[in-house]
Amino acid sequence: MPLIEFTDKGLYCAPGKFYIDPWQPVEKAVITHAHSDHARGGSQAYLCHRDTLPLLQLRLGPNNYQTVEWNEKIWLNEVTVSLHPAGHIIGSSQIRVEHKGEVWVVSGDYKTEADGISGTFEPIRCNTFISESTFGLPIYNWKPQQAIFHDIQNWVRNNEVAGKTSVLIGYSLGKAQRVLKAVAPITNNIFVHGAIWNVHETLIQAGHQLPAVQRITPDTPKEAFKNSIVLAPPSADGSPWMRRFAPYSVGICSGWMQVRGNQRRRNADAGFALSDHADWNGLLQTVQATGAEKVYITHGFQSVFSRYLNELGIDAAEVKTEFGTEEEPPATSTDSLKGEEDIIE
Ligand SMILES: [Zn+2]
Ligand SMILES: [Zn+2]
Repeated sequence: MPLIEFTDKGLYCAPGKFYIDPWQPVEKAVITHAHSDHARGGSQAYLCHRDTLPLLQLRLGPNNYQTVEWNEKIWLNEVTVSLHPAGHIIGSSQIRVEHKGEVWVVSGDYKTEADGISGTFEPIRCNTFISESTFGLPIYNWKPQQAIFHDIQNWVRNNEVAGKTSVLIGYSLGKAQRVLKAVAPITNNIFVHGAIWNVHETLIQAGHQLPAVQRITPDTPKEAFKNSIVLAPPSADGSPWMRRFAPYSVGICSGWMQVRGNQRRRNADAGFALSDHADWNGLLQTVQATGAEKVYITHGFQSVFSRYLNELGIDAAEVKTEFGTEEEPPATSTDSLKGEEDIIE
């Protein structure tokens, strides 16, 4: 029997008697990170990285939680388990499982470029690697973070000259903290949506250093937004909540913005391809660096990516899971051909 099985409740390690990121309530859940498609409520006990704990408490409420540090080895029944930085968001971890000399690694979501917030990703040697593939198409090639930050800063300055408020859209856990890092050097006049405020306060209380922000409330006077930067989650984009910022310009921060047609579809004034996931080369280099003899590819472009790995002589197979994406992909983004058309225009 394989060390980790794909069951209808999620990834299951039988000799360890635990699930990794299960999508149904189980007895013991090992959690890679606090995004809602990976960390679901209802389980009896949770194991996660220390930095993930306050985020799980925020999202799932009080529960039976156990935490570990990165690289700390613990025994769960017959297996040793350790967590290793995944570089995706604060606390995000790969899960390494060892049983009688055989090693499996579950990547969770990961990003290979160090963002200065999330911990630095490191590939882990293993026999079998289970990898995400959110951006597993060759068209996804990220610019370095610093270059994207410059693009964002220039856009903000241009908006200021035009007398417009800059509204930057990014999901509240992970992206918002990076966007904050991008704009903090050029302003101290930053407002955030309540959803981002909740995550921000949780992180500050947990001891993370983040730039100061102001919460937007119904009482915040409209004039306060003049020459300011506003951070808001995707759900706010296009809603009546935005009216208070007029005149404003909207910039979406998402890996999907790499494909220009997606920016147009979302009706954004600007798109910044700032992603919390590995790009095509990041995925490829990681799979190779693990040295795994067998690779399973989960959520994303799993069929394209696993076929490509097979062509390289790497034994890879796609696996269907119920992991989604924290930044909702544009309606047509799962259609890879459409994406390629868009990039050529
Ligand atoms: Zn995630
Ligand atoms: Zn995911």
